[in-house]
Amino acid sequence: MPEKMSDDMPVLMENLTDTIRKIFNETLITDIHTHLYAPSFGNLLLWGIDELLTYHYLVAEFFRTTEMPYSNFWNMSKKEQANAIWQALFIERSPISEACRGVLTVLKQLGLDTAERDLNAYRDWFAQQSIADHVNRVFEVANLKAVVMTNDPFDPNERDFWLSPAEIDTRFFTSLRLDTLILRWVEIYTMLQAWGYTVDKDLTEETLSEIRRFVSDWIQKIKPVYVAVSLPPQFDFPEHSPRGIIIEQAILPVTKFFNIPLALMIGVNRNVNPELKLAGDSVGTASLRPIENLCEKYPQNKFMFTMLSRENIHSACVTARKFRNLLPFGCWWFLNNPSLIEEITSMRAELLGTTFIPQHSDARVLEQVIYKWEHTREVLIKVYTEQYSKILATGWKLTENEIKRDVANYLGGNFWKFLESKF
Ligand SMILES: [Zn+2]
Repeated sequence: MPEKMSDDMPVLMENLTDTIRKIFNETLITDIHTHLYAPSFGNLLLWGIDELLTYHYLVAEFFRTTEMPYSNFWNMSKKEQANAIWQALFIERSPISEACRGVLTVLKQLGLDTAERDLNAYRDWFAQQSIADHVNRVFEVANLKAVVMTNDPFDPNERDFWLSPAEIDTRFFTSLRLDTLILRWVEIYTMLQAWGYTVDKDLTEETLSEIRRFVSDWIQKIKPVYVAVSLPPQFDFPEHSPRGIIIEQAILPVTKFFNIPLALMIGVNRNVNPELKLAGDSVGTASLRPIENLCEKYPQNKFMFTMLSRENIHSACVTARKFRNLLPFGCWWFLNNPSLIEEITSMRAELLGTTFIPQHSDARVLEQVIYKWEHTREVLIKVYTEQYSKILATGWKLTENEIKRDVANYLGGNFWKFLESKF
């Protein structure tokens, strides 16, 4: 048989895994939700070994190993915190948790020797990198085409950037994160007043009109690919509360006007242990009815959603089957673990075929995209080898280009097409 019969090749059962592995390794990814920043945001872009080791996932794991008072840890420098975490989680114990293994995967993929266990040598290596080259290298190693940032107009550091914006690396897209506006109205309405919006604590018609103007102004200023909010498991819709009124009367009309999705991230219980700061959030199981109500009542609005609780994933798949204006995405936060990614992706593939976004990284530190995508990719190769083998077993023929098409949709195409769609 000639090596190449045409541009396309039939896929045979015996080399299915190799073919799928090759396709996943070659397909560039759009990472649709991260907390990364483009280099022009300066110090807001976190990178390097000390940031990797003080990731809030590892901070939570560190406190399980120590009787140290919380305040002692928070009074340490970042380097001292990294030393303490390294000692407790990597030297005195084996680093088998997903977050610990992630650090090792990053070091390995960047060409560092994990066998050395030499934290200072790793520090020296990172210190020698120029950020521009390093960003390029990380994108290349992780197989990334683009990432979406999380941009919060209520964050004072970020606000400074937007008031006199520098050029943004074109691989970094923006999203408008509105947790503060939606969830903390009575505390923060004075900020809008200070910025020149005629708002009141009471959500009067004029106040809602001014909130719409605020959201529109920021959409025009930062050009987000979507507007996002994270919500507690108790979220309900419709709901006679500031958050319910703001979503329905201030956010939905504006996102519809600009035809951009509202991304809902549901199931986080904030601050169950405030001593842990950023690491102190937990999870709760939510109802899918609020999302169904939103999609049914506003069929011309577009919604994306992800749930934090494993118990919500099956009903979330069913809900997504009912609404074309609803796009499920990612294995969020506590679900971003290989055993759960496998279960969730298999379930989604069975219930939704190719019409979802399997993963986002949620990376806070630049190099985390390397491990988050490497670990996910291994799972996706396994899950899709199984899915495709089942249809090959019926006698159905597949070509390489058909699998490439599907994988490209999963790793970016579904997202970009949803942004363009208009219902
Ligand atoms: Zn996030």
